[in-house]
Amino acid sequence: APRKLIAGNWKMNLLKAEGEALVRALGGSLSGTPKPACDVLVCPPFTLLGALAPLCRETGLALGAQDCHAKSSGAFTGDVAAPMLADAGCSHVIVGHSERRSLHGEDNATVKAKAEAALAAGLVAIVCVGETEAERDSGKAEEIVVAQLLASLPQGASAKTLVVAYEPVWAIGTGRTPTVEQVADMHAALRKALGGVLSDAAGLRLLYGGSVKPGNAAELLAVANVDGALVGGASLSHGDFWAICQSC
Ligand code: 13P
Repeated sequence: APRKLIAGNWKMNLLKAEGEALVRALGGSLSGTPKPACDVLVCPPFTLLGALAPLCRETGLALGAQDCHAKSSGAFTGDVAAPMLADAGCSHVIVGHSERRSLHGEDNATVKAKAEAALAAGLVAIVCVGETEAERDSGKAEEIVVAQLLASLPQGASAKTLVVAYEPVWAIGTGRTPTVEQVADMHAALRKALGGVLSDAAGLRLLYGGSVKPGNAAELLAVANVDGALVGGASLSHGDFWAICQSC
């Protein structure tokens, strides 16, 4: 199994002083002992990437963004291109988060194009998928999420350039999580589907996201085919996020 990845998605939170303090604290923990058995990534808002890049580089924290545009430059007011993120010091970018899909109308084709732009810029694309509560209740969550993933996958991806995050929409920010069995079944289905299109699917990191907290992280991270976590709310607290990293 691949080395685990714990990724913090800060969403639209933290000002510069807070973000710097959090990264310094995480960097301090990372350089101390015990070392976590995982890679650690933070995904702050665009405005903090430039300020945090040197701090992250010094401490071995990976830096990512939360979205990118599908084009590499042009007349797209307010958007940010993948080469700009690489230039700012990012190694990763999240694409297709459910908040982008639902609040900004991003469909699978858009997410795929963004992921391809990320790969072209040399970034690792973290492609997010997940079912709504109604889709879960329909009993078809696995086929729905597998279809969403296959339609969102960038051309030319490999285990080195792609991470997949399974985030059930109804578990995001709600304090609710799927059962260990539901996570195991979904991740097995995603791994199998990836195996049909990627030669190195066994080495690709499949993250779970949605209400990951210190109290449930160890249990979720121990599930077969769970290679890490994408953490929202709990990534804003050094103590909580570090406790999750130490649960690997
Ligand atoms: P929460 O951890 O706050 O539920 O958010 C999950 C998420 O959306 C991470 O991308």
